[in-house]
Formats: sequence, structure tokens, C-alpha cells
Amino acid sequence: MSRPAGIDRKESLFESVPMNSVRLKPAPAGIALQRVAVLLPLPLPGPYDYCLPEGVAAQRGLLVEAPLGARTTIGVVWGAGEAEIAQHKLKTAVPLDGLPALPPALCDFVDWVARYTLSPPGSVLALALRARGAFAPESPRLAWRRTSFTPARLSEKRKRVLDVMADGLARSVAAIAEEANVTPAIVRALIAAGALAADALPEFLPLPSPQPDFAPPSLRSEQSAAADALRKAVLERNFSVSLLDGVTGSGKTETYFEAVAQALREGRQVLILLPEIALTVQFLERFAARFGCRPAEWHSDMGQKQRKHVYRTVLSGEARVVVGARSALFLPFCDLGLIIVDEEHEQAFKQEEGVIYHARDMAVVRGRISAAAVALVSATPSLESYVNAEAGRYRWLKLTARHGVARMPKIELVDLRQDRPAPGQWMSPKLITALRTTLTDGEQSLLFLNRRGYAPLTLCERCGHKLTCHQCSAWLVEHRYRRRLVCHHCGVDMPTPKACPQCGEEACLIACGPGVERLAEEFVQHFPQARMAIASSDTMHGPAELQAAISAMGRGEIDVLIGTQMIAKGHHFPNLTLVGVIDADLGSADGDLRVRERTFQLLHQVAGRAGRATRPGRVLVQTHSPDDDVMRAVAAADRDVFYAQERQLRERTHAPPFGRLAAIILSGVDGEAVRETGKRLARAAPAARGIKIWGPTPAFYQLLRGRTRERLLVQTERAIDVQAYLRQWLEPIKLPASVRLVIDIDPVSFF
Ligand code: ADP
Ligand code: ZN
Repeated sequence: MSRPAGIDRKESLFESVPMNSVRLKPAPAGIALQRVAVLLPLPLPGPYDYCLPEGVAAQRGLLVEAPLGARTTIGVVWGAGEAEIAQHKLKTAVPLDGLPALPPALCDFVDWVARYTLSPPGSVLALALRARGAFAPESPRLAWRRTSFTPARLSEKRKRVLDVMADGLARSVAAIAEEANVTPAIVRALIAAGALAADALPEFLPLPSPQPDFAPPSLRSEQSAAADALRKAVLERNFSVSLLDGVTGSGKTETYFEAVAQALREGRQVLILLPEIALTVQFLERFAARFGCRPAEWHSDMGQKQRKHVYRTVLSGEARVVVGARSALFLPFCDLGLIIVDEEHEQAFKQEEGVIYHARDMAVVRGRISAAAVALVSATPSLESYVNAEAGRYRWLKLTARHGVARMPKIELVDLRQDRPAPGQWMSPKLITALRTTLTDGEQSLLFLNRRGYAPLTLCERCGHKLTCHQCSAWLVEHRYRRRLVCHHCGVDMPTPKACPQCGEEACLIACGPGVERLAEEFVQHFPQARMAIASSDTMHGPAELQAAISAMGRGEIDVLIGTQMIAKGHHFPNLTLVGVIDADLGSADGDLRVRERTFQLLHQVAGRAGRATRPGRVLVQTHSPDDDVMRAVAAADRDVFYAQERQLRERTHAPPFGRLAAIILSGVDGEAVRETGKRLARAAPAARGIKIWGPTPAFYQLLRGRTRERLLVQTERAIDVQAYLRQWLEPIKLPASVRLVIDIDPVSFF
């Protein structure tokens, strides 16, 4: 075998070179016969017809390369062809080399999601093919092995090389040179002489496999009971949904890991969905401690090579456990036995752009199609899941106590109307006292304020002008460290002006309301000696920095962590005993149906950070409305009271899950055209029993990134097929070219 050019220049252990540059099997010269429908990962109304080359068996899921206009694209054989195109005019789709067909369950899932979300099936398929490079054949790494040939005269250095290589193992040039303590040139000379020969190794090292019995914990009895139920669900090899509903710190992760272990023993694949990448570093280590190695990962931050590896090993079945963000749902699992959705109530599971879907709901669908067990996990389940568990549609597994000696924290409401902060400040005297005590005791505190930046509003003291974004109907948020005003919607960012842009007066702009930066400033005034850190997506440069702050907090190098919702959940700080919630009323003005639920969940999760180990926790929740139902439920830590109220409210108003919702969002730069289209749509809506149309109304953010937005909301009874209704209504309507229409089934955001 000749040495490919340039191979020795790389320093890696195994050099990677393509075996050959031909990506695909050449199309045979013979006549193509079989007509098939091929779905392309593009927003087209449906599959296109192609022929397969002679001798290729048509199979749903077969990955092909298909000509489309002047280029080619990857596509998937979806079914039998049926278009009315003459056979001889059909183009040929060529199967990709070395890859099995996509599993039928994935194809069915793509169809299902497309129908449910009213998206073009090709757009959904694109989610399942989102792994650029994964479809190119593997490029083997080259390594060198000893041959039987030994050159006649050997220098001392060459002899050292052959001694190293006498064990018969394959190594890269660099590795040989290092081990034999010679220059790479000596190794290359031996290659040229024929004493070493190339060996092609697979492109990727085999994945380590998680061991179900590597380090099993001893479970408490309620954990054991839940783990047994989950193991049983896995053993049933059938679709089922369990809701693992356990208080914060009860060991939900430990418990569902037992189901993961069971699936591994059965030789089946597992998908664990997490809402945020920020959580995964800690999670991966925890997984490794239990199973002996890290799982495969899938999220937006991965390199192309890693994507290729994970994609292909999921398809081949080699990858047993994948931990990922919502897009991991579309990976080509060939034998999925278990899906875990951790923190199932999280809004981050809703994909809000492109194909709009809710990953928790689609995980249940994926489980049904794959006959897999699904476990939804939360300390504060979504009302939807709670109601399903109550109705017996989901198996309800409860963990009611914290692990070990940890007790639930004591939660107190601080009435801001009475316990007033100093003017222009946000911490009440009561909170300041509690912080002082905690610092004196050498324990840690967390101050939670769900607002990034310094101040959410800047206004002119003289003329009252509020500084807003010119392309969104939103206030500009001051970021004092960076001396800039930022729009949190479109990212527009400008230096903080010296004078009011409206009246021209200088030094008249004042900051209104607190952000985490301002809170930190106030904290330092009171406690100049304390070690403090801010954790917010603006002050953190990526997951690594957040991780560093979290680790520092874990090691006790920080006394007080001030942060937004990034730190509200999932983290476990044993010495954290005080949590202060600065403004519990935030968000109650948003006017969407889940505001109460979200406020409750967030406050409950934040409170759950306190007192997770031996020392008891205390939580102070500052509010202007201590008599509000939600605040009372938070203070009483009484979830069931909250869920009962919320359930009643939703039932009375026919809101989900007791009715269905779909939003239609129109947007465009031509505001008049958008409003006109909204009215025209509303007029065209077919009248039907059990269906109500609200709007069109200007969206909450009427202007976003320079586009005017109008919304319509469709509310139907639960039994109504809202997709069929929308199709019937919208399909005949032709939109002006400048107006974009987006359908959001089961909307979560009402902006
Ligand atoms: P949750 O996800 O329910 O909030 P975790 O799973 O994070 O709770 O568990 C909280 C802490 O208790 C973690 O440090 C975890 O390792 C520990 N823990 C829970 N159950 C056990 C157990 N059976 N044995 C040992 N440690 C446990
Ligand atoms: Zn903006």
C-alpha cells in the first residue's frame, strides 16, 4: 500500500485520510426499474418520485443521494412512487454506501410530527438528518504494523523502532517515534524500506459501553418501589408512560438510573432528554459514576466529527445511551427501549422556531411508535402530566422525602409592603439580616432574580421618554458593566447615551427596576467582605464559565451566588442554606395561561436549592401580594393545593389540557399587509361547533426584529381535530408574498 500524501504531518495518534474519494456506489449502467417516493429534507409538500438502480431493494428508510435540479441532496425512500411522471423521465436515486436504512419507527415518527405540527414532512425529516458529514463513508485512520521483512543493515535507532513494534500492535508514526525516541524520519525510512506496513483502522474508536452494575446505589424504600415500577415498565417491552414525581433532592436521578440499567441489561437503547446544556456537565459525571463511562451526547454545541460518530453509532445500535437536548428525539435509534424526559415541565423543551414542537409531548409519541417505556421526571410536573397521572393514563410514581437527613426548607413570604427595602434598593431588612446570619455561620446563600443586566428600563427624568428598541416593541435593558443598552429580543445593542434621545437633556436618564447586576451592587454595599459571584447568561461566557462558577460554589469558594433562572434548578450545593427570591411577582403581568404554573414551578425549584444536605434550609420570598394563591401555595410548599386550584381554573376556561389551543402568527415588514391578512383569515374561518377563534390581535411584542406581528388563537374542545380544521381553513388561502404564517400547535409562549 502506498503512503498517502501528507500523512505524517499530523500529530494525532492516528492520522485520518479518506480511503477513496468516491462517496457513493456508482449508478449501474443498466436501466433503472423501481419507482419509489423519496422524501427530501426540504420544505416541499411531499416526497418526489425517483427510480432506484437495478438490483437495489426498495425499502422504507433507505438513505439515498438524489439529484434535484443542478445539485444532489440526501433523501430517504419513503414509500412506493405514484406521481404521474413517465418512467423514462424519472431520475435515479442512488443508495448511500455503508449505512443501514433509517429505522421504520423513525420514518413513522417523522410523518406523525409533520401531521401534528402541520409542517412539511421534509422539514421534519431535516431534523432527523441534521448531522452534516454523517452520511459520508467512514474514513479509516492509518496506523503502522511490523511486517515480516527486516532490512539487512540496521542502525541503532532503526533497531529501537523495530523493538518497539515487535509486539505486533499498530501505531501512528508519531506514537512510534515517541516510544522509540527517534525522529519521525527514521520511522518513515523503515516504512519506505517495507519493514512497517499500513493498517486501516476504523475512523472511530469503539464507544465504551455503560455497565448496568458498575456502581448501583442502595435505594431507600420509596426509591426502590419507584425503581421497581420503572424496571418493570422496561421489561414489558411495550409503550407506557410513568410520571416520576419527587420533591427536590429526593433522588429522582438515582431512581431512574435503575430503569436505564434495566434497559442496558436488555440490550436496548436509552434516550435521556435534558432541558438545558448547562446541566449536562454535572450530569455526565454523575452518569459515569453510576455506569462506569460517559454516555453519548447530542446537542447543538457538538463538532461535526462527534456528530457523525454519535449519529452512526445510534443507527448501528452501538450507542446504548444518548443524553441530549430536544433534537436528540430525531436520532435514528434502532432499538429504543426507554426514554427519560428529565425536568419534564421545562419550557425549554418547546422548540419555537422552524418545526414548532414540544419535545416532551413528542417523546411520548416516539415512545408509542417505538413500543418503548417513557418516564417523565419532575418535582413540579406540568399540569398536563399531572392530570394524566391523576386520570391513570400515566403510572404515578412519587418520592415524598429528601434523601438522607436533608429536610425540606422552611419557606417564608416577606411582604414588601411592610418590610420595605430602602428607596432605590431591593433587599428587605429581613433578607439582609438573614444574609448576615448565614455569612456569619459560614454557610452559603443564593439570591434569585430573573432579570439579566442592570436595569430593565431606562427613562428620562425630564420628559418621561422610555428607551425602547427601534425594531422590537420592548424596553432596552441597561448592562452597566458593558456600558450598553441591549434589546433582549433581537440583540440590538448600543452605547448608553449621555443625553435623552427625545428631549436632548443631559444626565437625566435614570435606571428603573433591578437586574442581577444592580442587585449585586446593592449586595456589595451591605457586605463588602463577602465573596460574591453573578451567574447570568450575560456575565457568563458559555457553559464552561457557568460550570466554573458552579464548581466554585460547590467547593465553598463563593459565599453568595446571585443569578437568574440559570441557577434556579438542578444544582446541588450542600452548604447552601439560604435562598432569597428578590421579586416573586415578576412575570405575573404576562397574561398567558401558564404564568401561574410557571411562577409556582420556578419558585418551588429555587426554594429547592436550600438545605439539600445536613444543615436546614431557609427560603425568603419577597412579594407585594402575599395573599395571592400562588404565593400561598409556594409558602406552604403545598403542591397539591396549587395543582387542584390550577386544574379547576383550566377546566372552567376550557384551557389545556381540557381544551386544545393552536396559535397562528402572522408577521412581515409591511405592517398593513400583516393586519389585512389577519382580518382576511378571521373572516375566512369556517364556523364549527366547539371551536372559537380569538383575534387577530397585535402580538405581545407587536414589533419583533423589525417585523409586525399579529396573532390569532384557535381554541377547541378536546375531542376536536384541530389540525384538520386548520388545514381546511388555511389551505385555500393565498398569502401575500411579504407575509409569513406560522402555526404553533399547543402554544407555550404567547408573545
Ligand atoms: P432530585 O433530582 O430528586 O432533586 P437528586 O437525584 O439530585 O435529587 O439527588 C439528591 C442527592 O441525593 C444527590 O447528591 C444524590 O446523589 C443523593 N442521593 C439520592 N438518592 C441516593 C441514594 N439512594 N444513595 C445515595 N445517594 C443518593
Ligand atoms: Zn429589539
